[in-house]
Amino acid sequence: MKIAVLSGKGGTGKTTLSVNLFAQLNDVVLLDSDVEEPNSHIFLDMKEIGEIDVVKKYPIVDDVKCNLCGACGEICQFNAIIPAKSRVMVFADLCHDCGGCKMVCKQNAIIYAEKSMGTITHYKSGENKDFYSGILRIGEVSGVKIIEELRALSYNNVTQIVDSPPGTSCATVASIEEVDYAIIVTEPTPFGLSDMKMVVEMLRNMGIPFGVVINKAGLVFDEIHQYLSNEKIEILEEIPFKKQYARFYAQGKMISNEDEDYRMKIKNIITKVLGE
Ligand code: SF4
Ligand code: SF4
Repeated sequence: MKIAVLSGKGGTGKTTLSVNLFAQLNDVVLLDSDVEEPNSHIFLDMKEIGEIDVVKKYPIVDDVKCNLCGACGEICQFNAIIPAKSRVMVFADLCHDCGGCKMVCKQNAIIYAEKSMGTITHYKSGENKDFYSGILRIGEVSGVKIIEELRALSYNNVTQIVDSPPGTSCATVASIEEVDYAIIVTEPTPFGLSDMKMVVEMLRNMGIPFGVVINKAGLVFDEIHQYLSNEKIEILEEIPFKKQYARFYAQGKMISNEDEDYRMKIKNIITKVLGE
């Protein structure tokens, strides 16, 4: 089963939940798809065993063949190739490697070069669990390709936990394609609620079943429960705000290995989602 852990915004505890689910499961692999800001590795004591370079193609224009017809600039959705007065300018960092410009160039003036856009690091734990963490290079605008490569890592008969990018961006959508279930992590605040609503809409549009974990529970904001009840959305668990949890987090410790109450809550989520 493939499970995505999502949040409407950063800072709700999405990564904390992902790594603690990973810690409490057997036969599990963790994919950190939050490629603009991966941080699962901070909480995991694992050995790095390899790195995959993720490359993308970008166009190079042959000025001799090019007649400045403008077709490449018209098809590019990302302003990565712009025919100017005397030559075509290419902005490789903006290119999404879609192949459109080469396809429409009747002069056959475009070839593609390759550049590294990020890496995927493979880690292994002493218990033989696998963890992959993707990271986008500074200056690159889209991590979708790295996420697609993470998604393509095939694991049979194990639970896959996907730590997704926050929000509802293209990168988030790419990370949850093909998942069987999604866990939304939210917090009981007006921002938490409004950002969660967008994630709920995205998951419903994609037909992905989901439940909610309320983090930092105990803050007085009843609207979140009213909304979840009105929308008939299951609350998988409520995790209270405790200074001790914040302390473990700040120390880079796995909370579920340190605190029995927290561990029971993680196991409860596992039971509800996986039936284990
Ligand atoms: S489509 Fe080809 S010929 Fe036309 S401007 Fe672009 S590179 Fe030049
Ligand atoms: S490959 Fe696609 S994104 Fe890149 S420059 Fe060409 S049309 Fe634009």
